[in-house]
Amino acid sequence: MPALIITCIAIVLGLLIVAAVGRPVQECNHPAPDRSYTVDEAHHAMQAYRDCDHQTCEAKFVAFHTLVDAGKLIPVERTSR
Ligand SMILES: [Zn+2]
Repeated sequence: MPALIITCIAIVLGLLIVAAVGRPVQECNHPAPDRSYTVDEAHHAMQAYRDCDHQTCEAKFVAFHTLVDAGKLIPVERTSR
C-alpha cells in the first residue's frame, strides 16, 4: 500500500511545515490598558491576545512586561545567557 504511506508522509510533512512557519503575526488594535494590569489580568490578557505579537500589541506588551516584572515569565533572551 505505497499510496497510503505516501499520504501519511505528506500529512506529516504538512504538519511539520505548519509548525515550522508558525502562526502568522496578527495585526491588531488592542490599546494599552488605562492602568497597570494585575498579575491575574496580565495572565488573562496574554491568553486573550495569544495570537498577537507582544512587540506590536500594546495590550500584550503591557501584560507581558507585567508578568516579567512579577517574575512569572522569563523572556527567551534572558534564559539563553
Ligand atoms: Zn493585540
